[in-house]
Amino acid sequence: MERNLEGLLFPGSVAVIGASGTPGKVGHALFANVVASFAGPVYAVNPKYTELLGRPCVASVEKLPEPVDLAVVVIPAEHVAGVLKSCGERGIRNVVVVSAGFKEAGEEGAKRERELVEIAQRYGLNVLGPNVLGLISTRVGLNATFAPRGALPGEIAFMSQSGAFCTSVLDWAWHEGLGFSHFLSLGNKAVLTEVDFLSAFARDPQTRVIVAYLEGVSDGEAFIRTAREVTKEKPVVVLKAGRAEAGARAVSSHTGTMAGADQAYEAAFRKAGIIRAQNVEELFDYAYALAKQPLPKGRRVGIVTNAGGAGVMAADAVEWEGLEVARFTEDTARRLADRMPKAANIYNPVDILGDAHADRYKEAVRLVAGDPNVDMVVALSAPVAILTFAELAEILAWARQKFEKPFVCSFMAGKLGEEAEELLRKAGIPSFFDPARAVRTLRVLCDYLEIQRRPREEPRPLAVDRARVEEIVRRAIAEDRPRLGLEAMEVLSAYGIPTARGGLARTPEEAAQLAQHLGEKVVLKVVSSEISHKSDVGGVLVGVESERVEEAAAMMLRQIRRKFSDARLEGIFVQELLPPGREVIVGMVRDPTFGPLVMFGLGGIHVEVLRDVAFAVAPLSPGEAEDLVHRIRGFPILKGVRGEPGVDVPRLVEVVERLGRLAADFKEIVELDINPLLCYPDKVVAVDLRLTVTGEEGT
Ligand code: ADP
Ligand code: MG
Repeated sequence: MERNLEGLLFPGSVAVIGASGTPGKVGHALFANVVASFAGPVYAVNPKYTELLGRPCVASVEKLPEPVDLAVVVIPAEHVAGVLKSCGERGIRNVVVVSAGFKEAGEEGAKRERELVEIAQRYGLNVLGPNVLGLISTRVGLNATFAPRGALPGEIAFMSQSGAFCTSVLDWAWHEGLGFSHFLSLGNKAVLTEVDFLSAFARDPQTRVIVAYLEGVSDGEAFIRTAREVTKEKPVVVLKAGRAEAGARAVSSHTGTMAGADQAYEAAFRKAGIIRAQNVEELFDYAYALAKQPLPKGRRVGIVTNAGGAGVMAADAVEWEGLEVARFTEDTARRLADRMPKAANIYNPVDILGDAHADRYKEAVRLVAGDPNVDMVVALSAPVAILTFAELAEILAWARQKFEKPFVCSFMAGKLGEEAEELLRKAGIPSFFDPARAVRTLRVLCDYLEIQRRPREEPRPLAVDRARVEEIVRRAIAEDRPRLGLEAMEVLSAYGIPTARGGLARTPEEAAQLAQHLGEKVVLKVVSSEISHKSDVGGVLVGVESERVEEAAAMMLRQIRRKFSDARLEGIFVQELLPPGREVIVGMVRDPTFGPLVMFGLGGIHVEVLRDVAFAVAPLSPGEAEDLVHRIRGFPILKGVRGEPGVDVPRLVEVVERLGRLAADFKEIVELDINPLLCYPDKVVAVDLRLTVTGEEGT
């Protein structure tokens, strides 16, 4: 259910509970900020005063003259529960709990936090925090934080799981002239989480970009579902910190060893259409460009420079970022030839030389930006004696107005470039020393364009035998056999994934009998829940002639028994021999935050060496399954290279889709590897499967 956060984000009246008259106290700093910033009614609650900073002060929540839209609580943790109850009774719906001493402070604090959640639920309170810096809403002019500085108005909504990072950003943003619509710290996220604010910011017309610093996500499924909708309308840029593995997870599969928390976030962000920033620099470069620049129509970049080297660097960056160096129309090329000096380079990057005055620069920008083959423009300049950076900034501000195209610039200068900063800021043109950084922000505009256009397809219904799998899984759990044996192959069949024919033999004689129905040659595999990688121990014999099966099986068992005297051997899997094909791996692990994570990659016994794998959060739409298969580096090998035939990619994609369904349908399946799935031009077949189930909830 979506919460109504209007009163929290756009309050008409505010009370600060625990406001203090003692400078140096958080309750003082926060109250002073509210008083200084907010035009609506402001009340203090503190039994020690009747008036504070010229505002009425009452002894308790009960004594407030009106049920304010927003209460900000700055009192010792042990009193917070009582105050929350009073707020609930008084009809106050929105509360920011600044106080620390909750979940972050040990067992006692955790208990307090549970009580807080319980009270919030009982009264239907929107609680931000506890343990937060506070919030800022520039539209209503409210700074309800204890930070030394507020925020300028702007189009960026910012939320952060770290309060300290908030204060750093506020101070830096002031210096940079960067503005915000909303600015808040999420704290312990006891009640309101990033998901609530994603929806709320999405609805706010002043917000153009949503930016978040997150260390974790509270509810992975809700996060993806919400963000997927929000990113259709507005870009969301997230810096996710903390790459450490979440908890100790017992992994034994290939997929498990290659999937960490970071892959899960990467996959979740992809599914949700979130733009991921790798560091603080990227976070705000992207946020600023997305807030201030229009989206391009395509990926073609026009480059104008008065310095050759800068142009070359920009062109390199364009290639590197996967953008295109635009090819001008004949018309543009002719005009450039007419109007630029003979020695100038009139092809992209356009180098108008170091002796260019403002007129020449402006004319070049006009021609390049006006070219229909140019979707975005990078303007570059080194310090030159005859053209100031202020003049350049004016040219760009003019061009930005005239053409509905993204503009970024790189003035490769230090002190001299400062004169242009204010002008560029007013025009909303991102400016960087490094041309590569300028180009990178253009790439992000293209990324968002792609995200916005991407269809939000749902998974489609697939014909599967769910009841059959339920039975197999339930039996394995009841019998306490976490690693499924041969019946795992049946699980695949029930979900429409083709498997190699074969059967389990208890003895070498039985193996010989089974082999008779499986062709002239067969494959023998040892079956034991204690042996993970069968070929490592000589437990796989490929291409054994039918008449030699008994002898070969006996020898294989003898050898393995010699090496693993106490391993329990369940028998021998006799399988049809398949012709050589491309080996891929399709696997699944369950991530603690986002749930089933499907992995696809080049497989076989070298999968950990090649590490050419990609991840996606299940269930998968057909488009997502296709994207997953296409994303690996080695995809051309599957497509067919150098005259070799390709594999049946549509069938392969369908297997990935079906495995995603299986993973989503059965929470009991914790890990799964099909390795290899053998792929041919006309079919795909699973020959080896490892599948682990658990009866425990929440793994
Ligand atoms: P493990 O991974 O435990 O070593 P596999 O069943 O995956 O055992 O077999 C190892 C390799 O043997 C596979 O990667 C594949 O190259 C080959 N292989 C296995 N089964 C067959 C089969 N039925 N037909 C052809 N080759 C097979
Ligand atoms: Mg294998």
